[in-house]
Amino acid sequence: MADKVIPLADLRYASSVPVVPQHSTAPTGLLADTLGRPLRDLRISVTDRCNFRCSYCMPKEVFDKHYEFLPHSSLLSFEEIARLAGVFVAHGTHKIRLTGGEPLLRKNLERLVGMLAALRTVDGTPLDLTLTTNGSVLARKAQALKDAGLQRITVSLDALDDSVFRRMNDADFPVADVLAGIDAAQRVGLGPIKVNMVVKRGTNDDQIVAMARHFRHTGVVLRFIEYMDVGATNGWRMDEVLPSAEVVARVGAAFPLQPLDAQQTGETAQRWRYADGGGEIGVISSVTQAFCSDCNRARLSTEGKLYLCLFANRGHDLRALLREGRSDAEISAAIGGVWNRRADRYSELRSEAGAQPSSAPAGRRVEMHYIGG
Ligand code: SAM
Ligand code: SF4
Ligand code: SF4
Repeated sequence: MADKVIPLADLRYASSVPVVPQHSTAPTGLLADTLGRPLRDLRISVTDRCNFRCSYCMPKEVFDKHYEFLPHSSLLSFEEIARLAGVFVAHGTHKIRLTGGEPLLRKNLERLVGMLAALRTVDGTPLDLTLTTNGSVLARKAQALKDAGLQRITVSLDALDDSVFRRMNDADFPVADVLAGIDAAQRVGLGPIKVNMVVKRGTNDDQIVAMARHFRHTGVVLRFIEYMDVGATNGWRMDEVLPSAEVVARVGAAFPLQPLDAQQTGETAQRWRYADGGGEIGVISSVTQAFCSDCNRARLSTEGKLYLCLFANRGHDLRALLREGRSDAEISAAIGGVWNRRADRYSELRSEAGAQPSSAPAGRRVEMHYIGG
């Protein structure tokens, strides 16, 4: 059954309201899509705003003072987010990542963390609850997040050299403050901490070995992310992608590496350990080595649209269901129907097409700051 398409006040991205089946069955925790992939991991964007202007995500020329971010009334409230999260958890989700925009800019975020920390998986265990941040205000917030029940944190940091980092965040933000945030997170026990570095050839690839050296023997897991053709504003070009294989070669030449096995299916990073026991690194190769076949991730946008793929151009409007007074059972059945029909595998298709970003077939592709990473 196809979703009914309704016109929306905010037409920046296409969406439709999922059909609520007449007869719904209770969630079993075993939901699967057309390729047999379960729904294990939910990423929730809590704001579309950010205090950085990373060129690969929110280039200043587009996200300037004239850009219209979502009005507050469009955002899901914490109560709405927690309610939807409960429905996803009943469908088998056991990991939730808060993201954005910059999630720590959302006021009183720790209140939402507390609400999500109270949820239990279908097996009765606490959720794997984590958050991705640019680290800019982490030093101030780490303790409150830990106290509210956050388990782990991922911090994005693209360079150790201050001038390279300031250029990449394009907000003149210093490296030292992000490092202070990472230290604070480690002190309060938000570990194991991951640090994400997006690598752009010719921009920050000279930082790879310095970053590896800095985080070795600290317990922090550094992950190198291939620059992706997400959204439509970052002017992505394949020649700016540094393949992960080259990252591994460069790090390995400085500090010998050994491959590690995946810990879980659906894991995005390939893991390597330093032969001398200095810890591990990961590489996320969504451009050169697609990993759609076991992709179990769904994304909930700031205004409550469900996206089945990072590269989707159509959302499923769950906020509409919430605000038209649907019950949890109805929303659960609607989400079940959407996931059952999921066939997305964008990165694999991109690889098959010779690594060229395909143009969106209908409507604009969503931006990373809107649905989160
Ligand atoms: N503002 C937070 C941050 O930067 O960590 C959370 C949101 S951000 C969209 C989530 C992650 O997406 C970050 O690690 C960021 O580096 C990554 N990201 C954004 N645009 C990307 C792109 N074009 N290619 C690869 N990673 C990207
Ligand atoms: Fe902001 Fe994160 Fe996007 Fe950078 S990657 S502009 S910090 S949302
Ligand atoms: Fe999952 Fe889409 Fe990324 Fe493939 S391209 S791994 S389906 S989010």
